[in-house]
Amino acid sequence: MRTRRWIFSAVMRLLLRCLRIGQRHRFWPTQKVWQLWLYGRLCLRSLLYNSFTDSDTALDALFEPVYWLVDHITRWFGVVFVALVIILTSSVVCIVYVCLLPLILRTYPLPWVFWHFIYGHWNLVMIVFHYYMAITTQPGYPPQSKSDIAAVSICRKCIAPKPARTHHCSICNRCVLKMDHHCPWLNNCVGHFNHRYFFSFCLFMTMGCIYSSVSGWDMFWEAYAAIEKMKLLAKERLQVTANQTYGQTPPPTFTFQERAFHKSVVYAWVLCSSVALALGALMIWHTVLITRGETSIERHINRKEKRRLQKKGKVFRNPYSYGPLGNWKVFLGVERKRHWVTRVLLPSTHPPKGSGLNWDTTPYGPEQKTALLAI
Ligand SMILES: [Zn+2]
Ligand SMILES: [Zn+2]
Repeated sequence: MRTRRWIFSAVMRLLLRCLRIGQRHRFWPTQKVWQLWLYGRLCLRSLLYNSFTDSDTALDALFEPVYWLVDHITRWFGVVFVALVIILTSSVVCIVYVCLLPLILRTYPLPWVFWHFIYGHWNLVMIVFHYYMAITTQPGYPPQSKSDIAAVSICRKCIAPKPARTHHCSICNRCVLKMDHHCPWLNNCVGHFNHRYFFSFCLFMTMGCIYSSVSGWDMFWEAYAAIEKMKLLAKERLQVTANQTYGQTPPPTFTFQERAFHKSVVYAWVLCSSVALALGALMIWHTVLITRGETSIERHINRKEKRRLQKKGKVFRNPYSYGPLGNWKVFLGVERKRHWVTRVLLPSTHPPKGSGLNWDTTPYGPEQKTALLAI
């Protein structure tokens, strides 16, 4: 036992001696390895170090490959999504014109026909106009030269100055003024210049879907009952054909037009009510954001900032909020009373207030300067 311990300590002493000799005479690259390690650590820290770096930044870095994949899929499928919106909307409009309109004209009293005609067409025009404008209007991009803008930060992807409320869209691969989000259903970013078109499209599409679902409720149940009856008759027919020896006549069948009519009514109603629910929820969320004077991205930033200031016993105030009514007036571009009709209830191409590069901010305390920089 003693001999073994002696051998072990002798080997260790020899190893340490060799290491010291190697270091002294630079046989071992320990110094080089250490320098490399220090250099690598410095590079990593200089790349990642930021006063805002926290667990969220680390998570973002970890999920970077997933974001990359989602960004690319969204970019590739953007055109498919737009085509889907156009096809689905056109299919419902065709069903209304071909199947429902003749029925409405035959059965409804004249005042109801007039109401449906006027309201339906106004709603359709508003949907088509705002969707077309939302997909064709550029959201707004900051200029590349420094002199034109009051930049509050630098985009680390574009390596260009970034005005307040501007964010980098990884799908469009450029900075967007007052960016709200990238919408795959528009295949476009929602930003300063097309935010109103996007919201109006959501609003009028939801209104149109609710209108179609409510006014088509009775027709839907009749069509649904007819389809159930169709299935029963088909079953009976099968049974009669199997027992033809008893001399029974098969039950009558629905014509192709009748079958197509009932199925189309059910399809249109299910589609409209589903869109009304999904888009309605999105529209309500954006209504809340606009009332607060925030974009979807700013909602996350402001929530964080609110928590940070709360810990210090301070109250967060959004510097870009002009009060609920003021926010709506700025968002919709309402400057006079008649604009509520001409600019909100009728198609209008008026540009939004301001250039999107500089923003009037309500007075804020020194603590909130950091929030402004982050936004
Ligand atoms: Zn950028
Ligand atoms: Zn985008």
